[in-house]
Amino acid sequence: MDLKSVIRTIPDYPKPGIMFRDITTLLTDARGFRRAVDELVQPLAGAKIDKVAGIEARGFILGGAIAHQLSVGFVPIRKKGKLPYETIGETYDLEYGTDEVEIHTDAIEKGERVLLVDDLIATGGTAMAAIKLVERAGGDVVLCSFVVDLPDLGGADKLRALGKNVTALVE
Ligand code: AMP
Repeated sequence: MDLKSVIRTIPDYPKPGIMFRDITTLLTDARGFRRAVDELVQPLAGAKIDKVAGIEARGFILGGAIAHQLSVGFVPIRKKGKLPYETIGETYDLEYGTDEVEIHTDAIEKGERVLLVDDLIATGGTAMAAIKLVERAGGDVVLCSFVVDLPDLGGADKLRALGKNVTALVE
């Protein structure tokens, strides 16, 4: 089964010129969801992962399933203002303006090895902010995993240039 066949493309969403890669159709498909999670977990055999950090919102669904499979804890990285306890935040640039993500200050123990998960990497701005948060919280991001990489936007290469390991299931 080809994962690409269960990822839907919505042209001009959320604004003209963007080809939105919609993974809700992959999640709805029982075999697609299992295949994606299995393929993201397989390369981790033998890798010591202490926690999975998922980026709101689709990174929660995939990251939660991966954490369960690995029998490790899950840490949500959320949009500003959503986490109830003490947080630290990182802002990042969007095409127009900025956005901010946050993590709980006590979510990660010092030196923990963290797998970062999101559905898709484009420019890498979101993932970079998430990496900074995990590292400021005391963790070490050992791998960044995505279902989709949009290589023309250069995000995965940007992370690799900083020495991060990056995997994606489809381009
Ligand atoms: P970026 O920070 O540019 O790497 O964008 C990645 C974040 O924005 C991820 O959380 C994605 O879910 C979302 N995203 C960006 N571009 C797209 C796209 N073309 N299709 C679906 N999601 C996207």
